[in-house]
Amino acid sequence: MHVAERIARMSESSTLAAAARARDLAAKGKPVISLGAGEPDFATPENIREAAIAALRKGLTHYAPTAGTADARGAVAAKLARENSIAARPADVTITVGAKHAVYLAMQAMIEPGDEVVIPTPAWVSYRPLAELAGATVVEVETDPARGYAVTAAAIERAITRRTRVLVFNSPSNPTGGVCPPEMVREIAAMLARHPQVSVVSDEIYEKLLYPEVDPAARFLSIGACPEVAERTVTINGMSKAFAMTGWRIGYAAAPGAGSGLIQQMIKLQAQMTNGIPTFLMPAIVEALSERSTAGIEAMRRAFAARARIVAEAVASMPHVSAPPPSGAFYSFLQLGKVLGAVTPGGRTLRTPSDAAEALLEEALVAAVPGEDFGGAGRSAIRLSFACGESDLREALARIRRFLDSLVVRG
Ligand code: PMP
Ligand code: GLU
Repeated sequence: MHVAERIARMSESSTLAAAARARDLAAKGKPVISLGAGEPDFATPENIREAAIAALRKGLTHYAPTAGTADARGAVAAKLARENSIAARPADVTITVGAKHAVYLAMQAMIEPGDEVVIPTPAWVSYRPLAELAGATVVEVETDPARGYAVTAAAIERAITRRTRVLVFNSPSNPTGGVCPPEMVREIAAMLARHPQVSVVSDEIYEKLLYPEVDPAARFLSIGACPEVAERTVTINGMSKAFAMTGWRIGYAAAPGAGSGLIQQMIKLQAQMTNGIPTFLMPAIVEALSERSTAGIEAMRRAFAARARIVAEAVASMPHVSAPPPSGAFYSFLQLGKVLGAVTPGGRTLRTPSDAAEALLEEALVAAVPGEDFGGAGRSAIRLSFACGESDLREALARIRRFLDSLVVRG
């Protein structure tokens, strides 16, 4: 059967592929530890699960409105006003099948073929394929590992042309674990005032996962709160990470701005494509965004902060590799340095991050995501997720350490 060229040439999701490889090996009885996909090990907090169970018992089993119930959209709008200083009305919000779906809808609704999408890199693996699928040309703004992968307004401005339609902004960052300081966010917004053709897709899914315990300067500001871009920012967020709800598939997008009508166009596409998410999840969204969930979420954040410290200390003492300590999200992005070109005890020469990730999996039984598909400095890096339990994390770091010690390094 014919396969459409645009799908055939799209890369697969390397984050999900790494997770699948680890699962396959584990199913064959290998004691693999996965630092692959970014998926919290915690169960969803009890009060949120109970809200969905109660909704099922009540019989909420029919279609919900495409963009979500009034209560769920209202809870998201109230959250954005309260926590993010984003003046979204419920009508400016749509609830999507995970944040990934929201990124897809936004790209499809905003991009004309030939438009340019600027992405600071390294960046999450799905932005490029989803932008390209919508017909865009991706323009990377490469950031420097030696400066903690910080992106500046000036570097973004150099990449902007008349054809730039979208800037993708993701802080805290997957994969670097970096957090853009509020003053830099304000500088980027001020710079964009000079470029009214550019809209922002701000992916804030790691917003609540900040670790001042590791980096006392870590603070979060939504770019959509900045007046220069408030009416041309699509803010995307979801429940997967901070609420430990990956399998529920709940995300959302908000696009305030009376003039644009963008959210209506995204909802139109959604109605043709997926319609609303399961109706009995709507009360769980309201519950998750209520004060009743605050303590449970903070407990998970504290656990991630402890793991961030464990990873930072372990990586600092490893030979050949380097990474800034994670200030947010749950990733450590290792520059491979002299690992590239080294030979393993199993006789493999590690030419690329993919070679390194494969050898780490097969010779040290640790799954990680090779960095190539994150772009930029990812082409010489691998990503470790520390969303796993603490004892697994310590054991995996010890295995990585032994693996690095065992390499025969050139020069
Ligand atoms: N954005 C980023 C930066 C991510 O790391 C992820 C990974 N889950 C997503 C969006 C998508 O999340 P989900 O679809 O599970 O809400
Ligand atoms: N976003 C997570 C990750 O980067 C989950 C997998 C995915 O959806 O990409 O590992």
